[in-house]
Amino acid sequence: MNLQPANAETIAAATRILRGGGLVSFPTETVYGLGADATQGQAVARIFAAKGRPSFNPLIVHVADQTWVAALAHCDARFDKLTQAFWPGPLTLVLRRRDDCPASDLVSAGLDSIAVRMPDHPVAQALLRGVERPLAAPSANASGSISPTLAAHVRDSLGQKVDLIIDGGACRVGLESTVLDLTKSTAAILRPGTITAAQIAAVIGPVDVITGDQAAPTSPGQLASHYAPGLPMRLNAAEARPGEAWLGFGTCAGAALNLSARADMVEAAANLFAMMRALDDSARYKAIAVAPIPDVGIGLAINDRLKRAAAPRP
Ligand code: AMP
Ligand code: MG
Repeated sequence: MNLQPANAETIAAATRILRGGGLVSFPTETVYGLGADATQGQAVARIFAAKGRPSFNPLIVHVADQTWVAALAHCDARFDKLTQAFWPGPLTLVLRRRDDCPASDLVSAGLDSIAVRMPDHPVAQALLRGVERPLAAPSANASGSISPTLAAHVRDSLGQKVDLIIDGGACRVGLESTVLDLTKSTAAILRPGTITAAQIAAVIGPVDVITGDQAAPTSPGQLASHYAPGLPMRLNAAEARPGEAWLGFGTCAGAALNLSARADMVEAAANLFAMMRALDDSARYKAIAVAPIPDVGIGLAINDRLKRAAAPRP
């Protein structure tokens, strides 16, 4: 069985696997990651193979703290301010790669940039400190499907393609990190997340928000169809039609599940992927109808994922 509880023994085994070029799925505060030593090209290639991920999609490199980034990328004052304000936490920074960057070119998928993040989770931190190498870790799901917020989701989606899955319980945030591009003079959000444009602007000044169509090739978290469940999705649904499961938000009498009955965005973000999966797996429904979610703050990130989940499939 390749799913083990998070304890010292499991972390030691995971450290050996990662050093040896294997794949370990581990919990972070956002979603479960599919990790490999970012400095071993063959190990990183195994991530793409396991996910069935198009090779032009770059991967986020996880670090134990900001000091690890100096060897990988060029860091400026904005980097210092943002990491002080938001690390560890769900903010990924896209930076210019150093020429002598030890991470495999595969993590950058041919771009001259590299995306880095310091996860706010004790298991992820213990692994990084144990391996002593940056870890490439995209979400641990088959490419294009819903991100995993429980270890069982990883087992169901990737199973034996992973050498070890570390069960650290449910992910606290539940939505992928905000991706912020710092390679240009004006910072730009490539993927919305729970750290909002307003929060970032308060630290470094004005930021652009790039919408899906403009940035598709540079940030595949912006592919039109992504995070897709098996069932069709209908958004902004004020009620369920026959055969539909209604996924509620706020007061929604008759909802099959409710993202947050008290209309709390943080709670809704944490529940989103697990509830989409639960309805998708139920044999009772033909489609999923989602109640309207206000397009402000974290609601922007939730609606971004919902739009991709509802988009026409390739
Ligand atoms: P995932 O790790 O599956 O949550 O996806 C990683 C996200 O970060 C995707 O949206 C990637 O496109 C984005 N990303 C990773 N590296 C880069 C990069 N060098 N430039 C732009 N976006 C990146
Ligand atoms: Mg993903």
